[in-house]
Amino acid sequence: MQVYLVGGAVRDRLLGHPYHEKDYVVVGATPQQMLAQGFQPVGKDFPVFLHPETKDEYALARTERKSGHGYHGFEFYTGASVTLEQDLIRRDLTINAMALDDDGTLYDPYGGQQDLAQRLLRHVSDAFAEDPLRVLRIARFAARYKALGFKVADETLQLMKQLAQSGELEALTPERVWKETSRALMEDHADEYFEVLRACGALKVLFPELDALYGVPQRPEYHPEIDCGIHTMMSLQQACRGNYSLDVRFAVLLHDLGKALTPKEELPRHIMHEQRGLQPVTEVCERMRVPTHTKQLALAVCKEHLKCHQALTLKPGTLWRLLQRLDVLRRPERVEAFIQACECDSRGRLGLENREYPQAQYVLDAMQVVRSIKAQDLPPDIQGPDIGEMLIEKRIKALSALKQAFELQQTI
Ligand code: ATP
Ligand code: MG
Repeated sequence: MQVYLVGGAVRDRLLGHPYHEKDYVVVGATPQQMLAQGFQPVGKDFPVFLHPETKDEYALARTERKSGHGYHGFEFYTGASVTLEQDLIRRDLTINAMALDDDGTLYDPYGGQQDLAQRLLRHVSDAFAEDPLRVLRIARFAARYKALGFKVADETLQLMKQLAQSGELEALTPERVWKETSRALMEDHADEYFEVLRACGALKVLFPELDALYGVPQRPEYHPEIDCGIHTMMSLQQACRGNYSLDVRFAVLLHDLGKALTPKEELPRHIMHEQRGLQPVTEVCERMRVPTHTKQLALAVCKEHLKCHQALTLKPGTLWRLLQRLDVLRRPERVEAFIQACECDSRGRLGLENREYPQAQYVLDAMQVVRSIKAQDLPPDIQGPDIGEMLIEKRIKALSALKQAFELQQTI
């Protein structure tokens, strides 16, 4: 039997990009031989094994044939006679279809090195169109390698368009879509994922709420970039630049969904877009079955982002109620994430990318102030429901003092 390193590790090694996992393909072996050598079988669909010590994945070389709808509609054939070239041709991109043997010899039957040099994400064969998941994978690779100058090849984009139109994308499970999307969101150029999905028509199918933002205008005084879709992508870029968490990035992505629902006659103003956004944000989160904390932050950012922008001028009582709705006493980390997302919205605007956002520090300070006031510090004669009232009173007072100190500082 022969063993080759394949997939991402070969690609990233040639690119000088860091990689974290190694996948191997084994040619000329049977499952029985693998088991006899101590490999552990995994998965019921594919003949894949784990190395007894390194735990790296070793898959028997296989061919595949489309037999049904969607991601699972494949039949596999593995046998000791399946060649390396046959295994590589079923892979998605030429840059993912190279193999390296023990001696360091590179096998590149489909032009992967050339496409690496030309910075092209190009499909290996027309069988590409058999698996709709590849549309998401390619968009994710486009996001990951954007800084290196990679683009989707024209012919590949054509196939992605066909796939998007065919209705096959609907066969993807929400878990699969969320898995690819959440990985893409953590790339430094996450916006490129959504741009590529939009360019091939997949955004409309998978995230119609986001697609609907494109072409919707905003007031140029606040949004020199005007278009809501462009603003959303610019805000997401800010979240990547801040290296913020997945929850923050996702909340930023969804913060303005309500703007697609503004009545035409009100444009380019978007009064009430925070309220209007709650339903589409809920729908996206439920459809993708995102974790509860992810959904809660997305809803909070959608609903309250204007309040954060206005923080410096809010009355102390209003600021307290905002903090309370954000669950400041139990979830300070959510308030921090909320502030980060609002800052991305503020800077995700053409020419304003580096503007100051003093609201961030102000709301953080406000959070510290209200959290530092605790029941045990109250006089002992305060009892029962009075405790709660007294705490609120003290917190609002402290926020008043914070506001005065801030305003004083502004005048110096
Ligand atoms: P990453 O760095 O994200 O792990 P990768 O290229 O290694 O990227 P994997 O998902 O680990 O991606 O898959 C390993 C290899 O298997 C890929 O390089 C590709 O050759 C092949 N592959 C994985 N999924 C598909 C698919 N849906 N269609 C075709 N080939 C695929
Ligand atoms: Mg991999």
